[in-house]
Amino acid sequence: MYAVKDQLRAELDQIEADGLTKHERLITTPQSSHIATTAGEALNFCANNYLGLADHPQIVDAARKALDDWGFGMASVRFICGTQTQHRELETEIADFLGTQDSILFPSCFDANGGIFEVLLGPEDAVISDELNHASIIDGVRLCKASRYRYKNRDMDDLRAQLQAASDQGARRTLVVTDGAFSMDGYLAPLPQICDLAEEFGALVMVDDSHATGFLGEGGRGTPEHFGVMDRVDIVTGTLGKALGGGSGGFVAAHTEVVELLKQRARPYLFSNAVAPSVVAGSLAALRLARDSDEPRRALRRNAELFRTLMTEEGFELLPGEHPIVPVMFPGEDGARRASQTADAMLAEGVYVIAFSYPVVPRGKARIRVQLSAAHSEEDVRACVAAFVSARDKVG
Ligand SMILES: *Cc1c(COP(=O)(O)O)cnc(C)c1O
Repeated sequence: MYAVKDQLRAELDQIEADGLTKHERLITTPQSSHIATTAGEALNFCANNYLGLADHPQIVDAARKALDDWGFGMASVRFICGTQTQHRELETEIADFLGTQDSILFPSCFDANGGIFEVLLGPEDAVISDELNHASIIDGVRLCKASRYRYKNRDMDDLRAQLQAASDQGARRTLVVTDGAFSMDGYLAPLPQICDLAEEFGALVMVDDSHATGFLGEGGRGTPEHFGVMDRVDIVTGTLGKALGGGSGGFVAAHTEVVELLKQRARPYLFSNAVAPSVVAGSLAALRLARDSDEPRRALRRNAELFRTLMTEEGFELLPGEHPIVPVMFPGEDGARRASQTADAMLAEGVYVIAFSYPVVPRGKARIRVQLSAAHSEEDVRACVAAFVSARDKVG
């Protein structure tokens, strides 16, 4: 083991030398727009707490009550004795919300994506995946035996070429898979065009809407609603770990037969513990809040628009869009350095944002990714912009 420890230490040292070490901050409060860390208080602009539900009193109450009513843990996978009536209730309401026939819970969306491809696709099939899809899709695709095709991010000419290649190969089934919203850019997948192409080639469409479910689209039903294609998307995967309370758990919402087959065959479903009762109850409360009230969505939109407007007025370069992920760009040779020094300077002023550079984003496209939340006040948004301005004065 000592030799292995030395090798691992060398690997860690290399990560550090490359400037790629991720340091975790220790938060000492609930997740929210205002947090405290062991280093001090901070205004938080880097959580996926889009609707501000992570510490919502109604959700916390529902989870607390569930501890009394349903106990702490399930201590079982679903198919042995791990399904309470509330698990089914949550699945039914997710399906109703997203307009699909049924849905199935997984321990996480990572697991949902990890399990689905192997179940739906065999060696005689094809999967066509956007090059910027989430790591869990990449891993899930690796675990299946279908032929793999990849198309350039949101590039419909390339998607057509890959669909043609899969068709020429004589694939039995073809599945096109995309993130609904791409988390590094906040760009949305062009779903109407993707659905058109899929229909032309007789392919299925799967959308991972983790960065959209609950807040994108008029009623919060995600990118398919935003683009008016809810009835043309075959499979939606998503997470309960972001806008919908941010607890944990993921789901696949789809046709009955897809859900039923996943229950029989999906390995992360069959061989991993059921979602904890308090998380199910809290997520159900979160889903109902997201479904029944437009105000958090409106607040989120207002905040994102205000931030984009103020930052543009101050002369910062933003990637365009409507998503509450707003990338502030630091182009050029020393962009990575300026982005990271800017983020550091902002944290010193109590505003928490994260800088991303190569290899997470392409070379020369360094950025600070700002994530707005319904929990931010107008004052919070203005404070974030002010911190950007003052950091720019310092960093140059
Ligand atoms: C966050 C995210 C996931 C993982 O969700 P978990 O439930 O936290 O595992 C999967 N896909 C996308 C696109 C995500 O953004």
